[in-house]
Amino acid sequence: MASVEERTIFEKIISREIPADIIFENDIAVIIRDINPQAPVHVLIIPRKRINRIEAAQDGDAELLGKLLIMARDFAKSNDLMGFRLVVNNGQQAGETVPHLHIHLLSGRPMAWPPG
Ligand code: AMP
Repeated sequence: MASVEERTIFEKIISREIPADIIFENDIAVIIRDINPQAPVHVLIIPRKRINRIEAAQDGDAELLGKLLIMARDFAKSNDLMGFRLVVNNGQQAGETVPHLHIHLLSGRPMAWPPG
């Protein structure tokens, strides 16, 4: 019998079962403040549709993925962010902890390169 995939914390935030600092939402995604911020501005752009990680995305998700980047652009613009970094962690080795695709948007301090 196929196992039912466990719902992630992000699905519970999206459905309002768990509280979070939701700062923007539309029909595509929600933007929340990260609970453990790594920069003065650290938000997560989380699509309502669960895609576990970028490697699990389908070709048909291309439009959705593009819209998430446009949301990042709009968030940066409406918050007058001078510079910002977008991060998507794919897999445990890359630092992924929640298996529901999301884009980190970090800003408000100088960013080092290469990233850790
Ligand atoms: P990742 O490690 O790339 O999967 O990112 C998951 C992010 O979700 C981490 O930066 C966590 O700090 C953040 N996070 C986990 N739980 C919550 C929560 N309840 N509210 C806001 N952010 C969270």
